[in-house]
Amino acid sequence: MTTKVIPIQSNVRPPRVVPERYDGLALADTLGRGLRDLRISVTDRCNFRCTYCMPREVFDEQYRFLPQSDLLRFEEITRLARIFVGLGIKKIRLTGGEPLVRRNLDDLIRQLATLNVDLTLTTNGSLLAEKAVALKAAGLHRLTVSLDSLDEATFRAMNDADVGVAQVLEGIHAATAAGFSPIKINMVVKRGVNDAHLVEMARHFRGTGHIVRFIEFMDVGTTNGWRLDDVIPSAEVLRRIGAVFPLEPVSPDYRGEVAERWRYRDGGGEIGVISSVTQAFCRDCNRLRLSTEGALFTCLFGSSGYDLRTLLRDGADDATLRDHIAALWRARADRYSELRMAQTALPESARLRRVEMSYIGG
Ligand code: SAM
Ligand code: SF4
Ligand code: SF4
Repeated sequence: MTTKVIPIQSNVRPPRVVPERYDGLALADTLGRGLRDLRISVTDRCNFRCTYCMPREVFDEQYRFLPQSDLLRFEEITRLARIFVGLGIKKIRLTGGEPLVRRNLDDLIRQLATLNVDLTLTTNGSLLAEKAVALKAAGLHRLTVSLDSLDEATFRAMNDADVGVAQVLEGIHAATAAGFSPIKINMVVKRGVNDAHLVEMARHFRGTGHIVRFIEFMDVGTTNGWRLDDVIPSAEVLRRIGAVFPLEPVSPDYRGEVAERWRYRDGGGEIGVISSVTQAFCRDCNRLRLSTEGALFTCLFGSSGYDLRTLLRDGADDATLRDHIAALWRARADRYSELRMAQTALPESARLRRVEMSYIGG
């Protein structure tokens, strides 16, 4: 059986893989990296228009999102997830777009919760107040909520969707009451936009048990107008917070953990920094991404995905699907962030196309 490539903004093809029977050995890619994390995008739609992710000029009324029939159904996602777990996946993160806009998401969570895996979800928090209890009851283990500023005007300007800070804080509050704790809070830091508020964010969540993670603004996709000058390096974030609340490093939980962990010296809790621009962590990258329509990406900055949906819908059995996934991982050589500077020196027209974050999932 041959596997087609879904040509998502494609100008290069993923590695050609020749699937052989999977031999049951732990998987390693061409750089010796194991397979551990799977991110599943459950929708390419979102009720926000964050300027760094889905700028309204591009994602406007004319923008054609995927039709329902192209989306993987919950049963298809669960079937693939079971195969991934058999190949070594230990953690599944549901993401998007905004995962909570996908109807009946708790049905999917109930199905995935039967697998032996750490099950987590990233959300913009706007619908969390009404959904937190159902998510917990369905078996979701952990939550990450994105919140870019506590300053009302800044937050509204960044989400460009008329949602205020209070609505997200209410969601975090409801999720805490439902039993999700600690919650991770993601803040993308963009120079001149919200960096003036990063110490305030740290202060607000100090002592709550929740963990704020400061993320360097990345050049995902091709629509967000990324410039290196807009990136605040994590070292600067740590310097600014550490000047007010002294910090010390904490060892990672496991190899390949994305966030570098720090804690307040006075016992006020923990923060994290995600430095994919200034300190690429490709060396330990153990993540696979399954797009909303069933394309498998071996890197966040990929140009095209590996079409699992056609295999699924053509009636491939589990062993065949497993062989294709295993072969794709073994052929993997991605390390975009380590090569970024060579790419970003080129004009956009000469650079490799990159899939949008809202399609592939953060
Ligand atoms: N809609 C959900 C949310 O915002 O949490 C889940 C999907 S979103 C793509 C996942 C994460 O990616 C969010 O924390 C978001 O802030 C982050 N993100 C999106 N675009 C980014 C960019 N250009 N650089 C860094 N992080 C980004
Ligand atoms: Fe939507 Fe999340 Fe992207 Fe913001 S970051 S536009 S909330 S998918
Ligand atoms: Fe992993 Fe690609 Fe990010 Fe490197 S650039 S850490 S390979 S997703």
